[in-house]
Amino acid sequence: MRDIAYIALGSNLGDRSAHLAHARAALAALPDSRLIAVSSIEETDPLGGVAQHSYLNQMAALETALDPRALLAALQRIEREAGRVRDERWGARTLDLDIVKFGDQEVRDPHLIIPHPGLETRDFWRRELAELGEIM
Ligand code: ATP
Ligand code: CA
Ligand code: CA
Repeated sequence: MRDIAYIALGSNLGDRSAHLAHARAALAALPDSRLIAVSSIEETDPLGGVAQHSYLNQMAALETALDPRALLAALQRIEREAGRVRDERWGARTLDLDIVKFGDQEVRDPHLIIPHPGLETRDFWRRELAELGEIM
């Protein structure tokens, strides 16, 4: 079965738009997957209160036959390839890829929660999903 996964792209370190471009290309190259659409890019303040550069954010819609856990592993590989080093939560990073939604699937693993809990409070995610025509 193929589902549509909504993936939030974020970067607040280095050449932020280049990191997003790399991520879009890497998503488009995933096996058994098709990059359907991307939202416009939005700039937001960092979470967590630490002084950091603002983020560039973008939402991607990926039709995929991968399961959620395989997709998370693929996203973490793409993050590493983008040179993400610090893995501190909400810390500065070259690239952050979060699975926001995955069709109607719900996942509650220790390392994977779908829908992403941040969807409740991150208005920019909701705006980007709406732009992609996702019905909340
Ligand atoms: P937030 O998840 O609140 O946006 P973050 O993106 O800064 O914070 P990370 O340090 O990138 O957090 O990731 C911490 C862990 O979150 C990851 O190792 C991953 O296992 C887990 N995680 C849980 N649910 C998801 C999800 N839906 N998408 C991506 N990672 C997830
Ligand atoms: Ca995140
Ligand atoms: Ca993340």
